[in-house]
Parts: sequence; structure tokens; C-alpha cells
Amino acid sequence: MSNEYSVFQDCVSNAQFRNKSILDIVTKLSEQTALLDRAVFKSVTHCGCIKINAKKQVLRNDKTIEENKFFLESHLEGDLCPICKEKIEEEMGDLMFYLASLCETLDIKLSDVIEQKTDYLKTLGKYSLL
Ligand SMILES: [Zn+2]
Repeated sequence: MSNEYSVFQDCVSNAQFRNKSILDIVTKLSEQTALLDRAVFKSVTHCGCIKINAKKQVLRNDKTIEENKFFLESHLEGDLCPICKEKIEEEMGDLMFYLASLCETLDIKLSDVIEQKTDYLKTLGKYSLL
């Protein structure tokens, strides 16, 4: 699996011509995050294939973390239609491009980042994001 990320980072490195500056990469990464957010929200407001129905998440003190997991909600209703799914995947791919581009510029291996985070999540599991 980590080899796939290395191949991806190599492809990004080879395609990295226009935005070689760290300033361009960081601002493009932020911009791309906004574009991904917009694609998700347009699925709600323009297409309507998904709906957001949000309210305060309440952790129940009388339940374990595992039990609370079943009470917490995504606040999403419905499923992405194929068009919205394709658009969101495209924006995620662009986001990954700029993340890999940032890795490349800082001489960091994307595969190492993912491996370290995976190990962290495996070690701390459900307690890692509290
Ligand atoms: Zn849709």
C-alpha cells in the first residue's frame, strides 16, 4: 500500500511545474480544501441528493465509547448521486495532489506520513481523536 503512495508522489513530482513555490503549494492546498467543501455542499444545495440535518452531538455519560458511537450521527441523509460522487472524488484527488506536492517540496514521503498516522490510530484506536 505504501508503494502506491510513493508512485503517486512521484507522479505529482513529475507534474509539478507551475506551482513549484512553497507559497503557491500552501495556498493552492487551502484553496482546494475550499473547493472540496463547496462540492460537498453543492450536493446538498444544487443537486439535493444528500441533505444535512444537524444538531448538537451529545455524549452519554452512562455509555461506553463504543456504545456512544452508535448514538453519534453524521448529520447526513441520503446518498451521493453518481455525478456528485464523481465531482467530490475529483476534488479529493486534487487535494491529494497538493498535499503530495507539499510533501515533495518539504522532502517528506507521503507514504511515511500515512504509515505513521496508521500506526498512531492502531495504537490509540478509538481514544486517538478524543
Ligand atoms: Zn447529487
